Amino acid sequence: MKPIVAVVGRPNVGKSTLVNRIAQTSDAIVHESRGVTRDRSYHDADWNGREFTLVDTGGIEPLKSEDVFSASIRDQALAAAEEADVILFVVDGHTGVTEEDETVARLLKRVHKPTFLLVNKLDNPAREQERLWDFYSLGVGDPMPISAHHGHGTGDLLDKVVALLPDETEEVDEFPDALGVAIIGRPNAGKSSLFNKVIGSERSIVSDVAGTTRDAIDTIVERDGRHYRMVDTAGIRKKSTVYENIEYYSMVRGLRAIDRADVALLVVDSTVGVTEQDQKVANLAIERGCALVVLLNKWDLLKEERERERVLETVDRRLTFATWAPVLRISALTGRSVEKIWSLIDDAAAKRASKVSTSKLNQFLTDLREFGHTIVDGKRRLRMHYVTQTGTKPPTFTFFVNHPDLLTDSYRRYVENRMRATFDFAGTPVRLRFRSKA
Ligand code: GDP
Ligand code: GDP
Repeated sequence: MKPIVAVVGRPNVGKSTLVNRIAQTSDAIVHESRGVTRDRSYHDADWNGREFTLVDTGGIEPLKSEDVFSASIRDQALAAAEEADVILFVVDGHTGVTEEDETVARLLKRVHKPTFLLVNKLDNPAREQERLWDFYSLGVGDPMPISAHHGHGTGDLLDKVVALLPDETEEVDEFPDALGVAIIGRPNAGKSSLFNKVIGSERSIVSDVAGTTRDAIDTIVERDGRHYRMVDTAGIRKKSTVYENIEYYSMVRGLRAIDRADVALLVVDSTVGVTEQDQKVANLAIERGCALVVLLNKWDLLKEERERERVLETVDRRLTFATWAPVLRISALTGRSVEKIWSLIDDAAAKRASKVSTSKLNQFLTDLREFGHTIVDGKRRLRMHYVTQTGTKPPTFTFFVNHPDLLTDSYRRYVENRMRATFDFAGTPVRLRFRSKA
């Protein structure tokens, strides 16, 4: 795990501009799959050979429209404080100190993490020195002038930031073959209950992730001779912190877990159904290449047939992009069907690691040419020459075609659906790439 540098501040001060300047655009998280969300929050960055992850907290949309302002600022500052090694607190040099800046500063003062106060938009720092003084009142250290837009001051800043990053210690992984499993979902969906149920019935070992200042705690579960790494279970094991219930926080936490997981278990509160946040987090898991299993928890509380139908309807409506994910009705409270989760995890992980031979793929292509349809644009007609598997975890296929620009999202979906009908990819995302034939 790389050290984390979080960028916080009220909206419009220039956080994204700064992130874009620092992050290596070529290495940014690339999403080939279509998505319901455009939130980009984690970026790879590197300064003088020192790598870190830059978190643009402003990139995550506030989840509730009411009280958006205070809630989102508070939550992002808290979440950032929790996970960051270094915090970049950005303010706007032109507007001066605002009340929201003070709110963020108050929160940051309580967490004892290295914080840089960046006074942005000082495009002409030599002439704008006096604007800095105002910001001493925030009480979070010496204000540094920067211009995210022009890049002034960012080199000096990065020198100072990387000097403070914790040394990367070699991680000794005792269970290199363990399958990474992330339990994700909204607060109150039943993640802790499920985790405890699982832990209660299996042999488990708590394993700290070495060499981090963060409280990433994994739990290794042994079952039938196989090991499962339940990723980042700190928040699930004990719910002590005050902000454990904040929706945003659980989202950030979920994202972090997803990054190290092979399989994501989306725990849905069946009394609520699949929500927009569930949808987002599921989509992110898929974009990052995790297999997905949907667990409709608290099924014991649904007494009426129409309640059950309503939940299933939210699955159909909100998880249209993951119709391939198995859906299991469980009760973490009574234990109903909890045992069945394991085989779904194993199965999804196996599909995610699966390989399809080139001859089978080309047979598929032949059938597609013969019985499927293609894209025609004026005189141009899409032809697929051949296809080969170019990756696993998740399975990735590269199609060599004559005119990649003819490809549309709906055609990609069509090809994916045909592939899914031909090969068994239940539980795993697949990636299709279309390249011009050399
Ligand atoms: P965020 O909401 O904090 O992520 O802010 P953005 O990065 O979206 O920036 C908000 C506005 O400030 C945009 O119009 C930017 O172009 C502008 N901005 C950002 N950095 C600078 C800067 O260094 N100088 C000037 N003049 N404008 C900037
Ligand atoms: P988390 O915030 O996602 O970790 O959710 P918790 O595990 O703390 O559960 C939230 C609440 O839902 C608690 O009061 C649990 O007892 C309850 N709960 C969790 N799973 C179930 C279930 O399957 N059935 C019922 N009836 N209640 C459940």
